[in-house]
Amino acid sequence: MNTSSNGYVPPRVLKFQLGFLLEGTRGQISETELDIPRLRVAEDVTVDFLRGQLRFSRTSRGILVQGVLRTAICLECSRCLTETSVALEIQLEELYLAQPSPHAEFTIGEDGILDLSPLLRQEIILETPIVALCKPDCLGLCSECGQNLNEGTCSCRAEAIDPRLAALKALRDKLSKPNQ
Ligand SMILES: [Zn+2]
Ligand SMILES: [Zn+2]
Repeated sequence: MNTSSNGYVPPRVLKFQLGFLLEGTRGQISETELDIPRLRVAEDVTVDFLRGQLRFSRTSRGILVQGVLRTAICLECSRCLTETSVALEIQLEELYLAQPSPHAEFTIGEDGILDLSPLLRQEIILETPIVALCKPDCLGLCSECGQNLNEGTCSCRAEAIDPRLAALKALRDKLSKPNQ
């Protein structure tokens, strides 16, 4: 498969020529298997891969798209900011109208092309978690120096806590020996 210069498959692979299905009878089905590596779904959405089965069904008004697709997107870990791959499952069920309509969100082009890109972009954005973690027990960054605590400790913590501990210890010593 051809990839563009930045290493992503361009979104035109999400355009399906379904003119034959539009000319078919109601209930006619066409199925296709997707297995696309690094894909640019839209200008602002890229995925590490896109896999799964798509089903296009001719209805009286257009073409019903159904499918369960597996994909993964790259997000920044909310704690340590490291880029991390997050798996998503995308459930598609959307009617693309054959005739343009002011109420229709998705329509099939006059050339018989169904463009999955805007629908997929919308579903991926909806499924994208607000908080992502590189691992469940990510230790995050030190609030003082920014050290990634998954990769090693820094000296901030010891320096920040020691003086307070010393003061507490002195106070406790004093309270426990009231008669001295
Ligand atoms: Zn992390
Ligand atoms: Zn630190």
